Amino acid sequence: MFQHQGATSYEHPPSKKTHLLAPCSHRSVGAAEGERSKMTGLDLLQWATNTLKDHRIENPRLNAELLLAHSLTLNREELYVRLHRELKEGEKGALERLIQRRSSGEPLQYILGKQEFWSINFKVDHRVLIPRPETELLVEQSLRILSEKTFEQNPSVLEIGTGSGAIAIALAKEVTHIFLVATDISRDALVLAKENAASAGVQDRIQFVNSDLLGSFQPSRERRAFDLILSNPPYIVQSEIGSLAKEVRNFEPVIALDGGKDGLKFYRRLVSQTPSSLREGGWLLLEVGQGQAERVAEQIRERGTFLEPEILADLAGIERVVKAQKMERRK
Ligand code: SAM
Ligand code: GLN
Repeated sequence: MFQHQGATSYEHPPSKKTHLLAPCSHRSVGAAEGERSKMTGLDLLQWATNTLKDHRIENPRLNAELLLAHSLTLNREELYVRLHRELKEGEKGALERLIQRRSSGEPLQYILGKQEFWSINFKVDHRVLIPRPETELLVEQSLRILSEKTFEQNPSVLEIGTGSGAIAIALAKEVTHIFLVATDISRDALVLAKENAASAGVQDRIQFVNSDLLGSFQPSRERRAFDLILSNPPYIVQSEIGSLAKEVRNFEPVIALDGGKDGLKFYRRLVSQTPSSLREGGWLLLEVGQGQAERVAEQIRERGTFLEPEILADLAGIERVVKAQKMERRK
């Protein structure tokens, strides 16, 4: 059973091969019904649900409905009206291909090409990690920091490893007066993040930078340090990637998951690199995997440049975010 980091809802089913498109397969569309020509949407939905169930896909009926609606370019309400009508051959074929992809473990979000985060629709595909609901805690805590503090000038925020751009874009939508920089080592991810920023109408307010953490990145001259640096870095223990749900291990970018031998590689680097780019009194906010919070807090304590870090739990009660404020030198 998949329980890793308590982070996704995907099951970890044994793999099973059924050739959906094989003409004689008992699971190919129509064969189950005997006569292809008389298939209604409802028949097709039943076939799709059963096929997904056979492949141990979680929530097979919901997946089948969403994929059928997607293949017919209908929303779910429109789909219900269409269910009793006969379908055309082309329509069946289109769904069959989508069901085959989902049965192989490809995440629903990649097939539909979207995921909602912070009530914003993001385009997602194989280039980026699918934003997880628990990551909204980073956004929530950032907003708290940005609203509680009084800043001398518009606050500046740096997000490291932006992926789809979900966090930075959510912040840009919520707070109009911040200066935002979002980085990623993956150029492919940045292309998609920029597209998402444009769809959300905030492309002019986020500077996207290709960088290995803070390696090639220099804050601009007028902005010598950030008020807030945040990151949801890769944090999966390398040797455990192979035992994640197939949706994650076979489809999401490994560069977004691999946290090195102990899963903590990026925290070590971030805790050592960020202080020089952080204003005194500025904040570091890090998402962590299940069971990592205390070890990350310890790295922060050892660094000696931060006040006592705070650990915050997500809605599932899992310690998910470590929050630390950089010390201010006595005047
Ligand atoms: N921020 C997004 C989110 O929360 O949904 C994506 C987080 S994903 C766990 C980690 C991201 O860090 C990926 O987009 C990956 O490409 C990026 N990354 C990995 N190594 C990096 C590095 N050395 N420097 C910068 N970004 C890196
Ligand atoms: N939350 C992801 C998962 O457990 C991992 C993302 C990360 O490494 N930050 O599937």
